[in-house]
Amino acid sequence: MSQADRPFLPYGRHSIDEEDVAAVAQVLRSGSLTGGPVVGQFEAALAETVGAPHAVACANGTAALHMAALAIGLGPGTAAVVPAVTFLATANAVRYTGAEVVFADVDPDSGLMEAEHLRAALARHAGPPVKAAFPVHLNGHCAELEALSAEAERQGLTLVEDACHALGGSWVAEDGEAVPLGSARYGALCTFSFHPVKAIAMGEGGTVTTRDPQLAERLRRLRNHGMTRDPADFTEHDQAFDATGAANPWYYEMPEIAYNYRASEINCALGLSQLSRLPRFLDRRRALAKAYDEALAALSPVIRPVARTPRCRSGWHLYAVRIDYGALDLSRAEVMQRLKAAGIGTQVHYLPVNRQPYYRARYGRVGLPGADAYYEACLSLPLFPEMEQADVECVVAELKTIAEA
Ligand SMILES: *Cc1c(COP(=O)(O)O)cnc(C)c1O
Repeated sequence: MSQADRPFLPYGRHSIDEEDVAAVAQVLRSGSLTGGPVVGQFEAALAETVGAPHAVACANGTAALHMAALAIGLGPGTAAVVPAVTFLATANAVRYTGAEVVFADVDPDSGLMEAEHLRAALARHAGPPVKAAFPVHLNGHCAELEALSAEAERQGLTLVEDACHALGGSWVAEDGEAVPLGSARYGALCTFSFHPVKAIAMGEGGTVTTRDPQLAERLRRLRNHGMTRDPADFTEHDQAFDATGAANPWYYEMPEIAYNYRASEINCALGLSQLSRLPRFLDRRRALAKAYDEALAALSPVIRPVARTPRCRSGWHLYAVRIDYGALDLSRAEVMQRLKAAGIGTQVHYLPVNRQPYYRARYGRVGLPGADAYYEACLSLPLFPEMEQADVECVVAELKTIAEA
């Protein structure tokens, strides 16, 4: 059966089952839609999953990145390094704080920023002092965490891992230990997105993980207007305390301005239910990726999977390939259109962010040949847990037809 006779295969899709529906319905009947116990339950479950002591859930992955950028002190008069190949949000979150973005190049075969790219970006930069770097675990494949954190330490930078693609993956440390991505063993903070196309779905949702209790406390305030109810923090004593010295029960203070980036009970109930199925989702993604690897071998070198870091057990957010469109005598748009006509959805992750009009107007043209080369070749093929092996075979058969035409 050709893919045209099957339901359309998007490049990614969430999986919702009756357990998810029941978990959300239970919250809807509970009397508490936000600010209740499920947010904390979700945070505890996620913290355990990624092996980090602290997890702070929030409205989405972009909010997670913004809070992370604020928590480490980015703001006007500072800058941060961001790889050019990522979703807009990684760079935008830096800009939201008033800090400048220094775009780093990436490996043309993996799309990942490595230590050498971080070094080159710092050497090129002539603006305000760089305080941080935001490596991205693109496609779910690990950025080289040991080399990047060593480089960051040498340069006095804080690392924030954009782990929005990476839930369920792990980095194999020098001593052989599999360190879950998000454990914040390398980056001071790690950010996740639970947009439906990601590893688990919350509708909209995100989380920041950290090992640092003070950063965790800071993040909790940043997601809730910058306010505190901790009497130890109160500075307006005559308003805060009564004659006996007890804190007034209504009282709170806002020492700095922040945002409403909270996640609701509804979103967290869905996230918690989804998280319980993460191992199954990962098994499916890994099995499908292996099937792609095997089936695509016949199309090499015209179509090859993107390069991966050897010391990574990927969470397989995306299955991305590099295509030599010149050898096919077709443009990428033509390949995408042919696949679409055959019922197969694909996507490009991503146009280098430095090439967006906003960033071009701000920073001019930045020559990043690795990012350009990765972008020119990459294409994400369908990958999601409900896909079947036969779907993979159809996608590869269609690619083969295109390649042989
Ligand atoms: C999805 C994503 C984000 C943003 O997450 P949202 O939840 O959509 O705000 C940030 N960075 C990367 C790499 C992403 O893939």
